[in-house]
Formats: sequence, structure tokens, C-alpha cells
Amino acid sequence: MDILSATQAEILAAFKENSIQSFRAKQVYEWLHKKLVTDYDEMTNLPKSMRETLSELYPINSVKAEKIFTAEDGTVKALYSLSDGDFVESVIMKYKYGYTVCVSSQVGCKMGCAFCASTLGGFKRSLTAGEILSQVYFAQKYVGERISHVVLMGMGEPMDNFDNVMRFIELLTDENGLNLSMRNISLSTCGIPSGIEKLMQKHLQLTLSISLHAPNDEIRNKIMPVNKICSVDELLNICRRYTEETSRRISFEYSMMSGVNDSDDNARELASKLRGMLCHVNLIPINEVEESPFKPSPPSRIKSFSDILAQSGISVTVRRKLGSDIDASCGQLRLKENRDRGGYKCS
Ligand code: SAH
Repeated sequence: MDILSATQAEILAAFKENSIQSFRAKQVYEWLHKKLVTDYDEMTNLPKSMRETLSELYPINSVKAEKIFTAEDGTVKALYSLSDGDFVESVIMKYKYGYTVCVSSQVGCKMGCAFCASTLGGFKRSLTAGEILSQVYFAQKYVGERISHVVLMGMGEPMDNFDNVMRFIELLTDENGLNLSMRNISLSTCGIPSGIEKLMQKHLQLTLSISLHAPNDEIRNKIMPVNKICSVDELLNICRRYTEETSRRISFEYSMMSGVNDSDDNARELASKLRGMLCHVNLIPINEVEESPFKPSPPSRIKSFSDILAQSGISVTVRRKLGSDIDASCGQLRLKENRDRGGYKCS
């Protein structure tokens, strides 16, 4: 049993098998998910011998903060090491309404989006629920305040790690844990249709974000390989069904890349395809990644694009760019760390 990924009921069952009293399961679960400790030695209401036994039987596989960067705007980026030596990262952002943590769900990513740093070091493995959860726990302890929102928008494709991500969400919203509101969780996907279908059946109150980034196949095929398995129109059809089935508004992410996807025509095409859908569009100037040729659209272009969507009755916001001086875009920090340590580890 991976204890940090286990539900209280699973811990109880495992303890029973090892003849550990059942009330200990509740205690340990609380230490892990309410008091956020990462070592059995901190579980002071357990006898010392039991702490030793537990640490041998069930190591706590949380991420370990290696480096912390703070941007001028207060955004914090944490680089973590995993028990097998690789790196993942999270970003902690302060908004008026509280702290948001952006967590990674995989080490690297298979999706190959042309503008994204997560993909450059290759794919290593998916994270366990506990490893994803411990990024949130670290953030909460680091800022010393309750984390109010969690977004699965760090490294990795959540739909490619579906079961662990669902378990992460279950534990994160557990009333015996941090008890985060499901409505304050966003899950972002590049658009894997089978994953969206599975999520739809669960009727969760979370926000589904779709990384759309293009209004048509011609553009999307060039920047997002996933488009070859699910075209823009197919994706939007699934999204429309998702909103009907769950009554939840979908959020479309649209990273503005100069001369690639940011023309007025692109905006009009996007507007015509989204018309009537329960959705919101987030326009984000792309964060420059050293290895990729894409440049952010100028503010005037973003404004014009945004105005066209708004005039067509589409709800749209231009996302503030946070933390660009600390490489706060998915995968940038891990890439740099691997580079500093003499090459990519995961190719
Ligand atoms: N794999 C998931 C979640 C991680 S990426 C997904 O694709 O949605 C989170 C968001 O950041 C996605 O919308 C992604 O396309 C976007 N992104 C990746 N690299 C970026 C960059 N350099 N600048 C701006 N946005 C970027």
C-alpha cells in the first residue's frame, strides 16, 4: 500500500492485516492529510515502536522541496524531487481570494505540444495520488495559509493519469483531509476524448479546462499532436455534450502566439465555433520557452482578439501573466534543473 495515496478505509484494512489497532488508521490518516506531516516521527501520539514499524511497512512517498523561487509579483515556484530522483514542479499564486496551487500530474509529458516545456525532457512516469497531493500540502505549509484553489495545470496530462488524478481529487476533497471544495479544483487537458468522456460520467463539480489554442485543425495540427486523434470539431462536440451532461461551464485555454493563432480571423472563427456553448475563454500570452520559436502576441493583438470574442457574446478574460521571471510555465524549471545537472534525464 502506498499510504499517502490510500483512503482511510484502505489504511484500516491494511492495518487490520498487520494487527495494528483500527483507531490508529484514523490517527495516521489525520496526521497525513490534516496535519500534513511527512514523517512518522512527527506522529507523536503513536508509540515509537509503531512509528518504526509503519515507516518500514509503508514509506510516505511525498515530494521533497529542493528549490524555491519567488518572483517579483510574489508567485512562488517549487522544484521537488521524487523518491526515484526525478523532478516535478508546482507554482503557488496569490490572488485576492486566496492561494492557488498549480500541480504537476506526471514527470514530463507525452503529448508533445510544440510550445510547452514539459514535453522537451521526455516522459518518465505518472505521479501517484500522494505525490500530487503532497505538492498541495507543501504549498499550504509553505505559505502558512489555507490553499483555496488547486489547478491541475502543471507538468503532465491529467487524462493520461486518470485513475491517480481521480484519487488525488477524492483525497483532496475528503472532509477528513484538507476538505477542498470540488468547485475550487480545475482539471486541464489537451483534449483526450476518452478522458473527457470518463470525467463526464462522474458528474463532478470541478472545472474542466480545455487547452484549445487554435480555432481550426490547420493551426492546431501544427502545434498540438493530440489534434490528430481528435479534431477541433470533434473536441468541441464532446465539450458541448460535457456541458449539457454536467451543467458545468467549460473553460477554454487559448495561449496567444504571435502570428500563429492570434489574428482577427482566428478570433472570428473561434467565436463562431463556440457560440451558444456554456463556456469561458482564457487568453494567455504565451510564456517564452528557450527551445521553442513561439513569441507572445503583443497586448494590442490580444485586446483585439478578446474584443471580437466579447462582441460575439463569448465570455472572455485575458489572464494576467504571473511569474515569468522565474520560468513559471509548465516544465520550464525541471528542464532547467536537468540541464544544469548535465542533460535531460528522461529522453
Ligand atoms: N496537459 C494539460 C495540463 C498542463 S498544461 C493541458 O494540456 O491542458 C497547462 C496549460 O498551459 C495548458 O493550457 C498548456 O497548453 C499551457 N502551456 C504550456 N506551455 C505554455 C507556455 N509556454 N506558455 C503559455 N501556456 C503554456
